[in-house]
Amino acid sequence: MSHQQLEQSVVDLRQQLQHMKVLQNFTQTLSQQGENVSEILWNVSKDAVAHLDLEDCVIYLHDLKNGELVQCSAYGPKNPYEREILNPIRLRLGQGIVGSVAASGKLEMIADTSKDLRYITDDKPRLSELAVPIFVNDKVVGVIDSEHTRVNFFTPEHRDLFVALAAMVGSRIGAARFEEERLRLAKQDPLTGLDNRGSLMSDLQRRLEETISTVAVIYIDLDHFGDINHVLGDVESDKLLRAISESIQSNASPGSLCSRVGGDEFVVVFDGDFLQAKIAAEKLLNGISKSRSVGLHDKMSVNCSIGVSMGSRGNIAADIINQADFAQSEAKRKGRGQLCVHDSVLANRRRREQRVAMELRLALESGGKDFFFHIQPIFSFPQRKIVAGEVLARWTHPEQELGVIGPTEFVQAAERTGNISNLSQLIFSKAQGAIERWKVLVPDFLFHINVSPMQIQQDQFVPDLLRVLESAQIPTSMIACEVTESALMTNDAIASEVLNSIVRHGMKLILDDFGTGYASYDRLRRYRFTGIKIDQRFVKGLLHFDSTTHTIVNSMLLLARDMQLTCTAEGVETPAQIQALENMGCTLMQGNGLCTAISEQVFEDLITPKLSVPQ
Ligand code: C2E
Ligand code: CA
Ligand code: CA
Repeated sequence: MSHQQLEQSVVDLRQQLQHMKVLQNFTQTLSQQGENVSEILWNVSKDAVAHLDLEDCVIYLHDLKNGELVQCSAYGPKNPYEREILNPIRLRLGQGIVGSVAASGKLEMIADTSKDLRYITDDKPRLSELAVPIFVNDKVVGVIDSEHTRVNFFTPEHRDLFVALAAMVGSRIGAARFEEERLRLAKQDPLTGLDNRGSLMSDLQRRLEETISTVAVIYIDLDHFGDINHVLGDVESDKLLRAISESIQSNASPGSLCSRVGGDEFVVVFDGDFLQAKIAAEKLLNGISKSRSVGLHDKMSVNCSIGVSMGSRGNIAADIINQADFAQSEAKRKGRGQLCVHDSVLANRRRREQRVAMELRLALESGGKDFFFHIQPIFSFPQRKIVAGEVLARWTHPEQELGVIGPTEFVQAAERTGNISNLSQLIFSKAQGAIERWKVLVPDFLFHINVSPMQIQQDQFVPDLLRVLESAQIPTSMIACEVTESALMTNDAIASEVLNSIVRHGMKLILDDFGTGYASYDRLRRYRFTGIKIDQRFVKGLLHFDSTTHTIVNSMLLLARDMQLTCTAEGVETPAQIQALENMGCTLMQGNGLCTAISEQVFEDLITPKLSVPQ
């Protein structure tokens, strides 16, 4: 080996050692930095120039939204060593040398750029260039690039170092993006891509802490989604939910946070006043109600009920959401397909509901002595004979202040607070003695008991009831369970089984408030109902000889006859109604016009055969 060769080897070795140190240095810097990608890129550019004797080092990243390569860090005279890039260069894929490297995924080391037609000169030409692609999971995510004023400046060592550097940067970008994605998904509803409940709560809480005026909360609940889901099936229903979430996003005011907080429940939050909130809610309502095609179903229309509440600085997010939810349930109560605002009247109602719920719990816990039952007779026609009776719960609350608490109110409270089974068991246990006595007086008598939607979803409902009946030796054939259509909204397997098992064990199954729900006919076919009860509102309509109501009631009676179901008209109040129903062939009637709900003693008197006094 000549002296010259020896000297060259020493120079090469020193250079290699220097490069190893540089790499080690980069490894250390990269491993010490946090998740901030732009900080990592800036430091890489700066260190590359410092340690590798370069004139500049620029890193471009691929912007997936518009497919361009954007300058993300630039250390060198063109961007006078500033961290911030005032006018970042944007290149299309394939444009210039950097664009070509990104397009091909192959590095380029150009000895003389003046001979390369792709070279784009900006301020003054640099004569050599090294551009290396950065990969994440085999996809080009960017390019690390350096230019030099000297021809043939870059060496194979520079190239190898850039390749190693690009690999390190790629792995850091990959890790950071993975983390970004993980955080994004943790905040997102997977079906619609909207924010989830957790994300809504933190966003709303932040807005309530920062607001200088008010924050609007709009709670949206789709009407009858259980039924729609049943008709469409899961796949199509998911498509519908996605279409609705798109409608919500496009109709929400700018800057709104749109979230899905339950199966068919959405919440929109934005900074705005009451008037803006109402306008926004109306726009959302109209947007959702527009018909759309879903799968095979053309012109599918969905309605929703909306509640609006306003929050101001210092409020608690959960409170404002509950208020909007409460206003939404009020919109549902008023007939659905509309919006309702949380105001002072509603706030008072809510306070009363909470109070009633609390009192109910306390009353049940302390033995339920203030609860009892009334029974309303059901008459057969034309004989006008009492053949059945509906057991109705009553509660006399000792405190005057609360006033009369009707069964609709306390039954709902019991449902909401999960106390309905306890309440129903209590009422049934109070009625049990009377039923035992009355079965002797009227052997074919039928006791109608109301079974709430929640009880239908409890697999213990039928076994518990059977146990009580058995111990009191009451035949199952004396019991009719009344359920409303809302109990059938679910596709729940337990609910189906409970309904079937009621009939299997010889009890009657009656669809209560018939005609007020949705898809009644379908429900009737699916479950083995033995009878229906025509809702009071239809019977009321007969008062005014309203011909539409007349036709409806008539067709209900025909339907029942065709399906071999018993049909009871409820809420019969006047002789005219009785006459109209009789003319249509109705054989079972119940209502204040015949007899109100009465106490057990009065009822017993009514059904006890009177001894005829000998002349
Ligand atoms: P429902 O099952 O539809 O019961 C019939 C309601 O109509 C009763 O109201 C009854 O008193 C009333 N009614 C009867 N005839 C007439 C009439 O001619 N005119 C008018 N305007 N009303 C009449 P009540 O007793 O206030 O019960 C209301 C609701 O509370 C019931 O409606 C039922 O859904 C529920 N409920 C009552 N007791 C129980 C129970 O023990 N368990 C369950 N789950 N729900 C019950
Ligand atoms: Ca009923
Ligand atoms: Ca009813």
